[in-house]
Amino acid sequence: MPSYTAPTKDMQFVLHDVLKVSDSDIPGYADLDRDFTAAILEEAGKISSEVLHPLNTVGDVEGCRLENGVVYPPTGFKDAFEKMKEGGWPGLDMPEEFGGQALPYLVSTAVGEMFSASNQAFTMYQGLTHGAASAILAHGSDDQKQTYLPKMVACEWTGTMNLTEPHCGTDLGMMRTKAEPQADGSYKISGQKIFISAGDHNMADNIIHLVLAKIVGGPEGIKGVSLFIVPKVLVNADGSLGERNGVSVGKLEEKMGIHGNATCVMNYDGATGYLLGEEHKGMRAMFTMMNEARLGVGMQGLAQADAAYQNAVIYAKDRLQGRAVTGAENPSGPADPIIVHPDIRRSLMDQKSFTEGARAFAFWGATLIDQAHRAGDKAADGLISLLTPVIKGFLTDQGYDMTVQAQQVYGGHGYIEEWGMSQYTRDARIAMIYEGANGVQALDLVGRKLAQDGGKHVMAFFELVKSFCKENAGDDETYVRDFIEPLKKASKDLQAAGMYFMQNGMKNPNNALAGSYDFMHMFGHVCLGLMWARMGKAALAALAEGTSDPEFYKAKVLTGRYYMARRLPATALHLSRIETGAETVMGLDADLF
Ligand SMILES: Cc1cc2nc3c(=O)[nH]c(=O)nc-3n(C[C@H](O)[C@H](O)[C@H](O)COP(=O)(O)OP(=O)(O)OC[C@H]3O[C@@H](n4cnc5c(N)ncnc54)[C@H](O)[C@@H]3O)c2cc1C
Repeated sequence: MPSYTAPTKDMQFVLHDVLKVSDSDIPGYADLDRDFTAAILEEAGKISSEVLHPLNTVGDVEGCRLENGVVYPPTGFKDAFEKMKEGGWPGLDMPEEFGGQALPYLVSTAVGEMFSASNQAFTMYQGLTHGAASAILAHGSDDQKQTYLPKMVACEWTGTMNLTEPHCGTDLGMMRTKAEPQADGSYKISGQKIFISAGDHNMADNIIHLVLAKIVGGPEGIKGVSLFIVPKVLVNADGSLGERNGVSVGKLEEKMGIHGNATCVMNYDGATGYLLGEEHKGMRAMFTMMNEARLGVGMQGLAQADAAYQNAVIYAKDRLQGRAVTGAENPSGPADPIIVHPDIRRSLMDQKSFTEGARAFAFWGATLIDQAHRAGDKAADGLISLLTPVIKGFLTDQGYDMTVQAQQVYGGHGYIEEWGMSQYTRDARIAMIYEGANGVQALDLVGRKLAQDGGKHVMAFFELVKSFCKENAGDDETYVRDFIEPLKKASKDLQAAGMYFMQNGMKNPNNALAGSYDFMHMFGHVCLGLMWARMGKAALAALAEGTSDPEFYKAKVLTGRYYMARRLPATALHLSRIETGAETVMGLDADLF
C-alpha cells in the first residue's frame, strides 16, 4: 500500500520564506506566523496520513453502492466524515457568523492539498459543499444564508453542483432542465442532470443541490439559465427537516477513478427549488462556485502528483536493478537501487520540480484570492481571473503526466493494482475533464481572459515578471544565469505568442484557437519559472544567512535549476507550434479523418 507524508516543511518554506505571508498587508495575514501555520498544517497532516490516507485504497476497491434509492459510500467514510466535522475542517475559511473560522483562503488551500493528496474521492464531498456554500454566501438572500449556511459550513448538510445534462456539458445553453414559477415564489424543477459528484450519500442529514435550470418563458440559450437551491429534504420555516423533495438518484456511474465519490444521475421531478441570485443570471452565480472549484481542481492535479512522487522516491531507493554506469553504488548487493540511473533521476526531478513549483503557484494564486476578497483589490482579482484557467489546465495536465511518470518508476509493478500506483493515475485523470475540460480552459484563456479589460491583466502579469527580473538582475552571477535569464527568455516567448494571436487572430480566429492549448501550457511554465526564480532566491538567501537546514535549501536551488534548464525551455517549442497558425490543424477536411 502506498504511503503519504504531509509536505508541511515545504509548505512552510513557500508560506514564510517565499511568500512571506505574515509581513503581507492582506487582512488576516498578520496572524499567520510560522508557529500558527505549523500548528494547523501539522494537525491537518496528521488527519491526512492517519485518517484519510488509509481509506484511499478502501474507497478505490469498494466504491459506492446504491441500494433502495440510498447511496452508501465505502466503509469508513462516514466515521472519517464525522472526524472532519468535529475538527471544524470544512469551515476553515468560512465566516464566523455561520460557524466558520474565518481563516484566509490560503490556509484552506494548503490544508486542501493534503486532504486531496491523501484521499481525493473523500475530500470532494466536503469540497463541493464548500463551493455550494460559497455561492449561497455570495448570492443568497439573508434568509437563505441563515437557513443553509450554518449547516453547510459544519457539513451537517452537504452540497452539490448540477450543470451537466446528457446532451450538454460545455455548451450549457442547450440545457433542458426547466423551472416553473409557483404562486408562493418557489419553482418546480424538472429534468435530468448527470455526472453529479457527491450527488447522494448517507453521511449528512440533507444535501443542498445547486441546480441550473431555465425558467419557463425566459430567454433562449445561456441567457435563460438561472440557479436554484434544491434541497434533498425540504426545510421547514423553523429550520427543521420536513418532507423529501422530488429529487432522486437515477443511477451511480461506473468510472475510471475516484471510486469513493458517488457520481450520480440526478432526476428532478417537479422538485421544489428556490431561486439563488437573480433570474437568468445563473451562470454568473454558478461562476462563483466554478472559479473556486477550478482552483481546487488544479490543486487536485498537484496533490495526486505529489502523493505519487513520494512513493516513486521510496520505490526508486529500494528496487535493485542494474548497475550505475559510473560504477557500482551498492557493491555488496546483487544490483544498485534504480535511483542511480539517470533516466530514473530525470523522471524524479521532473516530478519533484513540478510538485514544488506547482505548490508555490497554487499558494500564490490563493494569496491573490485573499487580496481580492479581503482587501477588495481589483488588480489581484483581474490577475487571478486570468490565471484560473492556467492553474486548472496546466496543473491537472502536468499533474496527471507526473502520476504516469511515478507509475513508470515502478515498471510493471506500477500497472499492478497491489502497489496502488494506478489509483493515482486513474484519480488524477478526471481533474483534466471536470470543472470545464482543459481544452475549454485554454479557450477561456485565449478567447476571453487575454483580452479582458483591454488586456490589462496580462500586461500586469508581464510587468510583474519584468520587474522581478530587473530587481534581481544585479544579484549573484550564477543566480542570474540559472534563474533570471531562462525566466526572461520564457516570458519573451509567451509575449511573442500573445503578439501572434493579436496579429493573426483577427484575420482568422482559428489561428488563435489552434494555439490555445500550447499557450495555456506555456503560460503555466512561465508561472512555474517565476515561482522557481522566487524560490531559488529565497533558498540562496537562507543559505547565505547560515540556515540550520542547509540540505533542504541546497535541494531547493538544485531542483529550481533543473526546472529552469530542462522544463522551462518547453516554451520555445510551444511558441513555434503556435506560430504555424491554424493551417495544418484545420487543413484536413472532416471527411478525411
Ligand atoms: C467523474 C465526473 C464527475 C463530474 N462531476 C460533475 C458535477 O459534480 N457537476 C456537474 O455539473 N458536472 C460534473 N461532471 C461533468 C463534467 O464537468 C463534464 O463532463 C465536462 O464539463 C465536459 O462536458 P461533456 O462531458 O459534456 O463534454 P463535451 O462538452 O461534449 O466536450 C467534449 C470535448 O469537446 C471539447 N469541446 C467542447 N466544446 C469545445 C469548444 N467550444 N472548443 C474546444 N473544445 C471544445 C471538450 O474540451 C471535450 O474535450 C463530472 C464528470 C465526471 C466524469
